[in-house]
Amino acid sequence: MSKYDVIIIGAGIAGLYAAMNLPKSKKVLVLCKDIPWECNTFYAQGGIVTALDEADIALHVNDTIEAGAHHNLKKIVQILSETSLKTTADIISKGMQFDTDAKGNLLYTKEAAHSVARIVHAGGDATGRYLHHFMMTQNHHLLEQNALVYDLLIQDGRCYGVKATINYQPTTIYADTVIIASGGVGSLYEYNTNSRTVSADIQGICVEKGIALKDMEFMQFHPTVFIKTPYARKLLLTEALRGEGAYVVNEAGERFLFEYDERGELASRDIVSRGIFDYKRRTKQEVYLDFSMFKPKWFHERFPNITRTFASVGYNFPKDRVPISPAFHYANGGIACNSHGVVPGITGLYVIGEAARTGVHGANRLASNSLLEGMVFAKRAVDHILSHETHIAAMPKFDKDYGNILHKENDKEYKHKLRQIMWDEVGIIRTTKGLHHARNCVYDLKNREIGRLLQLRLNTASAIVDAALSRKESLGTHYIEQEEQDI
Ligand SMILES: Cc1cc2nc3c(=O)[nH]c(=O)nc-3n(C[C@H](O)[C@H](O)[C@H](O)COP(=O)(O)OP(=O)(O)OC[C@H]3O[C@@H](n4cnc5c(N)ncnc54)[C@H](O)[C@@H]3O)c2cc1C
Repeated sequence: MSKYDVIIIGAGIAGLYAAMNLPKSKKVLVLCKDIPWECNTFYAQGGIVTALDEADIALHVNDTIEAGAHHNLKKIVQILSETSLKTTADIISKGMQFDTDAKGNLLYTKEAAHSVARIVHAGGDATGRYLHHFMMTQNHHLLEQNALVYDLLIQDGRCYGVKATINYQPTTIYADTVIIASGGVGSLYEYNTNSRTVSADIQGICVEKGIALKDMEFMQFHPTVFIKTPYARKLLLTEALRGEGAYVVNEAGERFLFEYDERGELASRDIVSRGIFDYKRRTKQEVYLDFSMFKPKWFHERFPNITRTFASVGYNFPKDRVPISPAFHYANGGIACNSHGVVPGITGLYVIGEAARTGVHGANRLASNSLLEGMVFAKRAVDHILSHETHIAAMPKFDKDYGNILHKENDKEYKHKLRQIMWDEVGIIRTTKGLHHARNCVYDLKNREIGRLLQLRLNTASAIVDAALSRKESLGTHYIEQEEQDI
């Protein structure tokens, strides 16, 4: 029987930064479902927020709360911003290289709804890839890839470890502390920008165990995504493009976002996404992102990753404009926790990163706050764990095991159906009628002959639909269109 001091579920920025901060003397196991770089962190493009200096903290807090429709927990936003300077300095001192000018000064960019340029980036538009590589090289603990967690060992208000398949073998692993760092819920949506590993499994386990999820109605849709690819993960065009001056245009090349908000392309994500979605629906026109104002040399140096990726699907940037659509991007809601990542009511269980609902993002995340959140709250969770050490005296037995029924024959078809329902009815613009339809469909799928992993996805989908039905008024990313009989 294996037993660890700490198990970390997930090897994105949150999981790896927690691992980096746990001393070598601790017996730590990091688990990730697939290869380590198959995670949202790796795909992050634009950058990571840092307050520019002490004076910028109040402004950053204000921008975050404005974008979050004042649904944020101010105390938590304050922690995020105040800790940002120390956090960025920490990784730079350990060797993380952000882009700098010729004199070695950090280069800052601006993204939507930020008052000033305060986002640092790496490799031009490959921040996530650089950060992930850096953190992998810093990790001094055991990392098991191809390790899929399908249950948490919880009894009488204590977490004792996990059940996971490691290289397809069901295994029970005990630990004094479990940190959930398993990311968001992207695979629930037909069009999404997320890694295929991000599929809401652990949120689904929490629903099953009665652990609260919060703010699940606030799902964020990114406005500028190229969805015309056959792959599940759709190609993102970073917000930094609009920050640098790219336009959103209709077929005639005209900008139209000012009809929706005076900030045009630089309004917050929820407003731009809804604007594009509504414009396409209303006019039946294609909508494009236009970069023709940029000099090719500058563009290729600033956005090398996007230039390369889109060249492989036939686009010559910045000359060609590209058709765009909003797509699911980020879960503002998640597993409820306090400011140290402690999951209330369960000893030995923490949650960090996109899986967590810290209260930072409110009803809509400010661009590039999530990589920072992953690090700030991972460190706070580790500090809490190290100062509140608990050891399991006796290990209960957990006989119930789903390891051999993770998948069933028709799961693929049902998963596809679920993704469509979530996109159509629980997407950018919702109606009460549509949400009820989604609830019935999810209920129906739950009663089919399905595997454990689909069951978990459906649990999380139910939590999203129920939260959306409970909030009758629009707020942030949750937009309810009044049906005719209600007007
Ligand atoms: C295309 C894209 C661009 C983005 N750009 C930015 C940006 O520029 N700036 C910014 O701040 N944010 C950005 N974001 C958001 C940000 O990248 C994520 O919110 C953040 O990386 C989440 O980190 P995480 O560590 O919580 O989870 P992830 O990085 O998603 O990692 C999740 C980990 O959990 C593992 N896992 C999941 N389920 C299980 C399971 N059942 N068993 C075992 N392991 C499991 C996965 O294998 C993976 O290792 C972007 C997101 C995307 C998708």
